[in-house]
Amino acid sequence: MFKQILKSESGTVILLTALAMVALCGIVGLAVDGGSLYITKAKMQNAVDAAALAGSQLLYEDNILAKNIAEEYIEKNGFNKDDFNISISESDKSIVVEGLKEVDFTFVRVLGIHQSMVKASATAISGPITSIDNGLRPLAIYDENLEYGKHYTLKYGANDGETGNYGFVRLGDSGATQVAENLTYGYNGKIKKGDDIQSETGNLSSNAIRKAVNDLIDNCTHGCTYNNYQEGCSRLIAVPVFDPPVPNGAGWKEVTGFAMFILDPTKITTPYGHAEITGYFIEYTTSGDIDSSQTDNGLRGVKLTQ
Ligand SMILES: [Zn+2]
Repeated sequence: MFKQILKSESGTVILLTALAMVALCGIVGLAVDGGSLYITKAKMQNAVDAAALAGSQLLYEDNILAKNIAEEYIEKNGFNKDDFNISISESDKSIVVEGLKEVDFTFVRVLGIHQSMVKASATAISGPITSIDNGLRPLAIYDENLEYGKHYTLKYGANDGETGNYGFVRLGDSGATQVAENLTYGYNGKIKKGDDIQSETGNLSSNAIRKAVNDLIDNCTHGCTYNNYQEGCSRLIAVPVFDPPVPNGAGWKEVTGFAMFILDPTKITTPYGHAEITGYFIEYTTSGDIDSSQTDNGLRGVKLTQ
């Protein structure tokens, strides 16, 4: 009798243990398969974000190249590009990257669930930069028809100035010291399209200004040219664009946009009064506010919108 109870209790314990094991396996299975689904989804989102951002940088150049680079980023992130759809809008300068992939389950197959679909999507746009939040150089370009790769004079030398202006603009304080500092580091403040900026008159070529320009040139050790340059090179400078004419004296002008130049590698040498600063107009992608409805001056930004 006593033995039987013992036997029966033992049987119940075994049964309960077995049931508990099944429940535990189910929970572990859900956790493992659910976790794998979650990880795949996160990785896929990273892949579409990276692909859309990379592709968006080429939307003003070539849509096929934009699509190719987006596909390259999908593969770099460990996915097969055939599981992704890429669409580009020429008018909106936008790129949409969508992924759809089947993920096979390992544990919850016992429950009859074999796989699930994982989806991710990202949209990136490109547009002209409408503000620069640090780093604008105190030079100006008065031109409505800038051409890529063309050589422009940003600051004129002795006797070549116009109405007292040689090409400098005032960002922050007036004077050669601030100009030199702004040349070296870029202006430490935000300038937006539509802001009025005063010109900085005079053929400024103080020791500090010459040193600032020569340092920007010397710090490029990459042999950069206007069509093959290192991103972030010291010779790359962003300047405000103004509609002509050049103001009279220390006049004010409205910023119509921003443009990027790569400084000509000719250093400022004697006679210092003839100090000219020249560069090649280039296309460039940087960070900042963008607006795709604005005039494109080649300096653009990209961002994810979804
Ligand atoms: Zn360089």
